[in-house]
Amino acid sequence: MITALPFIVAAVVTLGYAWLCWLRPFRPCPMCKGQGWKSTRILRRPKTCRLCGGDGWRLRLGRRLFNHLRRTRLAAVRSETTLTRTINRAKEGTR
Ligand SMILES: [Zn+2]
Repeated sequence: MITALPFIVAAVVTLGYAWLCWLRPFRPCPMCKGQGWKSTRILRRPKTCRLCGGDGWRLRLGRRLFNHLRRTRLAAVRSETTLTRTINRAKEGTR
């Protein structure tokens, strides 16, 4: 029972983070604290945040990872479909 406890805690934390990424995919920008602008160091002028581009929001790391994996999977499915079509056309062409 005691040996299973870390795995249960890790599973709960992972599922909780996945749920958070699904529920609220964006978080306030860490560089500008969600304001969308920062003041320059020397003259203290307001300047658009480079990290969020003035939105004040950033996509969470887990959501970015999910989107990357989803795009990779879709690209693989598309290339596989294209490859299958190409092979079928080649077979039809030889007959
Ligand atoms: Zn920002």
